[in-house]
Amino acid sequence: MYTKSIEMLEVSPRDGLQNEKQPVSIEDKLRLIERAIDAGARRIEVTSFVNPKAVPQMADAADVCAGLPHRDDVTYIGLVMNARGAERAIATGRIDQLGAVAVSTDTFAMRNQGQTSDGSVEASRTIIALANEAGLSAQATIAASFGCPFEGEVAEERVVHMAREIAKAGPVEIALADTIGVGNPAHVASLVAKVKEAVDPLPVRVHFHNTRGTGLANVWTAIEAGASTIDASIGGLGGCPFAPGAAGNVATEDVVYMLERAGIDTGLSLEELIETNTWLAQVMDKSLPAMVGKAGGFPVPADETERTVA
Ligand code: ZN
Repeated sequence: MYTKSIEMLEVSPRDGLQNEKQPVSIEDKLRLIERAIDAGARRIEVTSFVNPKAVPQMADAADVCAGLPHRDDVTYIGLVMNARGAERAIATGRIDQLGAVAVSTDTFAMRNQGQTSDGSVEASRTIIALANEAGLSAQATIAASFGCPFEGEVAEERVVHMAREIAKAGPVEIALADTIGVGNPAHVASLVAKVKEAVDPLPVRVHFHNTRGTGLANVWTAIEAGASTIDASIGGLGGCPFAPGAAGNVATEDVVYMLERAGIDTGLSLEELIETNTWLAQVMDKSLPAMVGKAGGFPVPADETERTVA
């Protein structure tokens, strides 16, 4: 592996929590964001500006934004599906970057955001333009890039075409999302390379769900194929209300363990991520999917401290 460092994007406050039935208080959401920052996170998807009836957990988007710590070194991202969402996000005055979502198939696009697939590309371009007019940056994610819960296989050419069209609007990056966790490393290697070539010099970000256990393998392969940024969620929570059977995001602590042990710097503290996992499990009142959160990091011999001191 030639990469010495990789950027991580923390999605637990949005993707991690959006599908949880149990309401999480604004205070706990802000505590999660503060803990992520303390652990080293510098790009955080803090909320989404969507219809509160469809996604009740995100109904407090404006209040969460009002409580965000004032940090010049952290990029706060708000996810939006249309111009109205973009306007709400911009109006908070606290969002640094808008995240648009385009969906690879018509059926999923209609269920997720009431648009056709082409309509979601057009909406993404509008959102990027609105962000730029307001002095914010913007990026776009192509959801269901590796397979659709309703239409099955998604042609690579379709995703590449969408990426190229969205790139013309001036985003800072294009992300490929395996929204329902059906991807495999061979598919990831192929699609990441093709999209990277199509949108060059824009960076490519990836977003994997570990629904079928391929999440970490996909992360590793995506980095080898040239992805610059990895989405992950502390504790491995996550899911999509409109994608049947979708499970958690790849867990931040699992990704960080793998990359740091492989000599790739993530800028994150594994120790603090594991502590946050323990705290979040208490808040959610359940055990979280992350594996390193339970097992801990690489073992340190008990007498190591004494040896170094001596
Ligand atoms: Zn997701």
